[in-house]
Amino acid sequence: MNILVSACLVGIGCKYNCEIKEYPNITALLDRHTVIPVCPEQLGGLPTPRKPLEIKGNNVVDSSGEIHTQEFEKGANEVLKIAKMVGAQLVVLKSNSPSCGIGKIYDGTFSSTLIDGNGITANLLKKNGFTLKTEKDI
Ligand code: SF4
Repeated sequence: MNILVSACLVGIGCKYNCEIKEYPNITALLDRHTVIPVCPEQLGGLPTPRKPLEIKGNNVVDSSGEIHTQEFEKGANEVLKIAKMVGAQLVVLKSNSPSCGIGKIYDGTFSSTLIDGNGITANLLKKNGFTLKTEKDI
């Protein structure tokens, strides 16, 4: 199966603070499937490291209030292109992220408060009919 995954779930240092965390349940997919790692925030042109970002209303802002919605939309479109190109049968995305979160995201106050909603990339992939799961569902 071709599985698109958030790159930070398979050991790529693309998280905003460059921290690498292990997700053994996701790396185990590498043994049996073709796994394609993508980071929409990097594909949208944001640097790593970068300030933490959250969705606030209709925009994505960093912790100093700077708006980065355009980079998020570009990244989402690039990921959609890759998902179509490889014929992704499943997409596994990092929970709670403003790009990758499915169902729950942070509320834009940078206080670790979760609200209902999808990240920008997750939303676009969902609208295009891809099957989405978080790392917690695998
Ligand atoms: Fe991981 Fe997605 Fe954030 Fe990139 S944008 S670091 S893939 S959660």
